[in-house]
Amino acid sequence: MTKRIFNFNPGPSTIPLSVLEQAQSELLNYNNTGMSVIEISHRSKDFENIIFQAETRLKNLLNLDDNYRVLFLQGGASSQFSMIPQNLLTEGKQANYAITGSFAKKACEEANLFGTTHIAASSKDQNHNYIPLKDKFSLSENPAYLHITTNNTIYGTQYKEYPSFDNIPLIADMSSDILCKPIDGKQFALIYAGAQKNLGPSGVTIIVIRKDLLEISNKTIPTMQRYDIMADNNSLYNTPPTFSIYLLNLVLGWIENQGGITAIEDHNESKAKIIYDAIDNSNGFYMGHAVPEFRSTMNVTFTLQNSDLDKQFIAEASEKGIIGIKGHRSVGGMRASIYNAMTQEGCQALVDFMLSFQKNNK
Ligand SMILES: *Cc1c(COP(=O)(O)O)cnc(C)c1O
Repeated sequence: MTKRIFNFNPGPSTIPLSVLEQAQSELLNYNNTGMSVIEISHRSKDFENIIFQAETRLKNLLNLDDNYRVLFLQGGASSQFSMIPQNLLTEGKQANYAITGSFAKKACEEANLFGTTHIAASSKDQNHNYIPLKDKFSLSENPAYLHITTNNTIYGTQYKEYPSFDNIPLIADMSSDILCKPIDGKQFALIYAGAQKNLGPSGVTIIVIRKDLLEISNKTIPTMQRYDIMADNNSLYNTPPTFSIYLLNLVLGWIENQGGITAIEDHNESKAKIIYDAIDNSNGFYMGHAVPEFRSTMNVTFTLQNSDLDKQFIAEASEKGIIGIKGHRSVGGMRASIYNAMTQEGCQALVDFMLSFQKNNK
C-alpha cells in the first residue's frame, strides 16, 4: 500500500484509517449477505439496522432525547439553506441570521427567496475574524428562528457559547464542527451538517430536528423538501445514499471507541494548540486570522507575513506529505483543516514543517 499522507483538506477530508479498513474488509460481503453494502436493498433489515444505529448513535452523542429525529438526506448542507425557510419560515415572521462567514451569508440569501429575513448580528466589519457575542444580537420583532453557523470553515472562527433566546428556535449549520466537543443538543431546534467534514464521506447530510418543528412545518411544498415526510419514513421515502450512511455509521462507532465526545474534544484541543502555538511563537512570521478567543479547533487559518512565500510554503509542505493547506481566497494564506479524524501526528508534522520553513526563510 502507498503511504497515506497528511490530508488537511477542508472537505471532503480525512477519514479514520480504521474505518476505511473496516469498509474495505467488508466491501464484498456485508454481514454475510453475500452482497456488498452498496448492493443491498435500502428496505432490507440489514440496511434498516444501519440507519437506526446511526440515528441512535447521533442522538446519544449530541445528548438528545426522544423529542428529536435524525434525518439522512441528500443535496449537501447547501440544500438546507433553502429547505429550512421552505419548511419553517411562516407568513408574518422573520428568519433571523447571524452572518459570520460565507456559508452563513449564502444561507440567508436563500431564505430571502421564501420570505423576510433579518440580520441579527454580523462580523463582516472585520472580515469575519470574530463571533459576535449574544448581547450584540438584535432579533427582529417576530422571529421564526435564529440561524447560526457554529464553525466558520473559511475564516477559522467558532462559537464558544451559543446565543439561545427563550422560545426562539435556534438552528445551527454545524457542517464543520459537529461532534468535535460535547454540547447540549437540546439548545437547538434543528442542527444540520454535510457529512464530508466531521462525519464521513460526502453524499449524505444529517438533519437533527425537534419534533414540534415537524408538526408546524409547511405542508404545501414539494414532497422531497418536507421534513415531516422524511421523518415519517425514517429517511426511506426514496432511496437514500446508502453507502454514505453506512460509512457515517462506522465513523460514529469510531468516535465511541475513542472514548466518546469528551475524549475527542481533548484530542482536538491538543491538536489545535500546537499549531496555534507555532503561529503565536513565530514573531509575526505567521499571523493567525481569527481573534484568539474565537479560534476554531477545526480550521486553523493563518497568513505568512511575506505572502510572496505562499507558493513555496505549499510546495515544500507537499514534499513532506502535507496537503490541502492553501487558504480560501477570502482570507488568503493557509488553512489547516484538522477535523476529528486528523491525527496528532499529522498536526505535529505540520508544526515541524512550519518551524523549519521559518528558520530557512527568515
Ligand atoms: C462545507 C460547508 C457547507 C457546504 O456544504 P455542502 O455539503 O457542500 O453543501 C455549508 N456550511 C458550512 C459551515 C460548511 O463548512
